[in-house]
Amino acid sequence: MSTLRFHAIKETFNRPTIDVKEAERRSAIFGSNVFNEAAMRQYLTKDSYKSVQDAVINGSKIDRNVADHISTGMKEWAISKGATHYTHWFQPLTGTTAEKHDAFFETTGDGTAIEKFGGGQLVQQEPDASSFPNGGIRNTFEARGYTAWDPTSPAFIFGTTLCIPTVFVAYTGEALDNKTPLLRALQSVDQAATAVAKYFDKSVTKVNPTLGWEQEYFLIDKALAKSRPDINLAGRTLLGHASAKGQQLDDHYFGSIPTRVLDYMRDLENECMLLGIPVKTRHNEVAPNQFELAPIFEETNLAVDHNSLLMDVMSKVADRHNFKVLFHEKPFAGVNGSGKHNNWSLATNTGVNLLGPGSTPMKNLQFLTFFINTIKAVNDYEELLRSSIASASNDHRLGANEAPPAIISVFIGSQLTSVLDQLEKLKNGKLSPEEKTDLKLNVVGKIPEILLDNTDRNRTSPFAFTGNKFEFRAVGSTANCAKPMTVLNAIVAKQLMEFKTEVDSLIKGKKMKKDDAIFNVLKGYIKDSKRIRFEGDGYGEAWEKEAKKRKLSNNKTTPEALKAQVSKNAISLYEDLGIMSKVEIEARHEIEVEEYAMRIQIEARVLGDIARNHVIPTGIRYQNLLIENVQGLKDIYGNTFKKHATEQMELIEAISGHIAKINKGITDMINERKKANKIENAEKRAFAYCDKIKPYFEEIRYHCDKLELLVDDEIWPLTKYRELLFTR
Ligand code: ADP
Ligand code: MG
Repeated sequence: MSTLRFHAIKETFNRPTIDVKEAERRSAIFGSNVFNEAAMRQYLTKDSYKSVQDAVINGSKIDRNVADHISTGMKEWAISKGATHYTHWFQPLTGTTAEKHDAFFETTGDGTAIEKFGGGQLVQQEPDASSFPNGGIRNTFEARGYTAWDPTSPAFIFGTTLCIPTVFVAYTGEALDNKTPLLRALQSVDQAATAVAKYFDKSVTKVNPTLGWEQEYFLIDKALAKSRPDINLAGRTLLGHASAKGQQLDDHYFGSIPTRVLDYMRDLENECMLLGIPVKTRHNEVAPNQFELAPIFEETNLAVDHNSLLMDVMSKVADRHNFKVLFHEKPFAGVNGSGKHNNWSLATNTGVNLLGPGSTPMKNLQFLTFFINTIKAVNDYEELLRSSIASASNDHRLGANEAPPAIISVFIGSQLTSVLDQLEKLKNGKLSPEEKTDLKLNVVGKIPEILLDNTDRNRTSPFAFTGNKFEFRAVGSTANCAKPMTVLNAIVAKQLMEFKTEVDSLIKGKKMKKDDAIFNVLKGYIKDSKRIRFEGDGYGEAWEKEAKKRKLSNNKTTPEALKAQVSKNAISLYEDLGIMSKVEIEARHEIEVEEYAMRIQIEARVLGDIARNHVIPTGIRYQNLLIENVQGLKDIYGNTFKKHATEQMELIEAISGHIAKINKGITDMINERKKANKIENAEKRAFAYCDKIKPYFEEIRYHCDKLELLVDDEIWPLTKYRELLFTR
């Protein structure tokens, strides 16, 4: 009997109910482990508090003396909450979060000890940068790097550790993390959008990009997950025959949440409340054992931190409930994968959502301005946007007919399409009074009511307008949102700057009125960005053909998609906006192609191991049983044995056939790997892994899965899909 699998299954039979203590009111505990405004007011002097607020709102520097005061207040607050340690918490280019805890505790030299946390420790730390991906920047800065406090994201306590969100940069200044470029992109879009928003309201002084992510995930019993080497090492199943029942009955989506899962969710949400992560929505997703969680949207930097933190917390709480969370975009073949929709908009300090249509024609002109500029930005940088969500795991999702395709397009719905069509027909130059009245009454004035009716939603679109925000749906469930958010906010910033220049030149040069100038420029943008708009079925082959005609990119694999990151276009965008230098951009590209090759390499090794050391021996064992049986029949029936042994003999042959194919597949794959590993250039190596090695996965898996169907269930060593997906 295959011991591990059956042990694991048995363990799931008697899972205890985990007691979850929930606060009577969530609002009462919300943010209680966060050094938020309320905590600051209590623990900081007036001046220190003002200085933090100033840094948050205006990006001003915090004086070193003040930092000493702040750190003392923060330490007192943290200790009052039971914290013993502190850490700089950052997001290196591994895609996850990093922390190194230090105790507050310090000896004084006279045999006693105190709790200490100075301004220096708050503001800066020096983790050894050499063990984090740096894409060759290493050579120039001798592995030295430092983390620096990001006051725009508040410190929080997790467990007994005070966590201080920080950026991570090389000593020579290059960013080594996901947060630094994000902060720079957010600053750019703030400046650009504020300048444009002032056309409509002079009192706007700041624009915050907002982000509301939706996190999809699978929950698998811990023992079952541990019984599968592929889940442990690659985060997904590399083989496994489909379960007889999958998602075909649509009986999981929005269904009643299983009790054990609900307990997990309640526990998780409780932790989120303490950490100030405003989670709001929970439900079953399409695939069995797949779920989703979504918060109320927040300012983008904070939302990105909260998502990274959440993923960590999710794994920790899951362990308590004997679950393992799978964040992989495609943990199981044949059922839906997971994404992380990024809902995005721009909000002013005056409380206006710039992508929300308003109640007057002028407010709607403002809406159209930001709406059309966003579409234009996506049109001009579609390939760069695609590159921001490229990863080995997301490749399984994009273009696999259940998630958006690898082609970026924008869906806006039929009513807004007709608004843009009418605007496009305007003639160049100043508008006549009649034209203006007509525009106001019949086009711009009508937007709020039509949007309310505009409920049609195209789930096949990667970038859809959904009433008062854009929803970037192609982001993968494992992603750090900083990457797509850096690109999106950067391209919109760049676009808005161009827009402002063009409008101003019409106002000054052509003596146009402001709204005439705005209409003129928008009209041109509508024309220029028409090819990116697509309302039809994004999964169809027809769209692939059409997109090709429109010269839209269709990069189906990560190495292909990543090229756009180092294109001239991208480099000048980042350099112009001061988001990244060429060195930083190229380093990141190098890191990503390297990571891609390593991920495929790990999967190839794990697959080779499972197929050769688990599956083939099992096939042979079963075959031996059959051979014994045939031998026995021969002993009893002599010459006529074949009449009774036909099935068995066919099985014996079939098993041999599959074993041979598996063996050959693995041998060939290993040979290709040897060749690929000799390639010096990281990008070329990534292409080799993609084009030469990955194709073996399907072939090897096919024969393993066939064997699974033939071999006696009692001896099959790998926990089956039906067990992984239907145990809860
Ligand atoms: P779904 O797409 O699943 O139907 P909703 O459209 O209701 O769900 O909302 C999804 C997410 O969009 C939520 O996380 C919500 O906070 C976020 N969201 C709503 N308004 C905005 C906004 N102005 N900016 C950013 N995110 C937003
Ligand atoms: Mg959504």
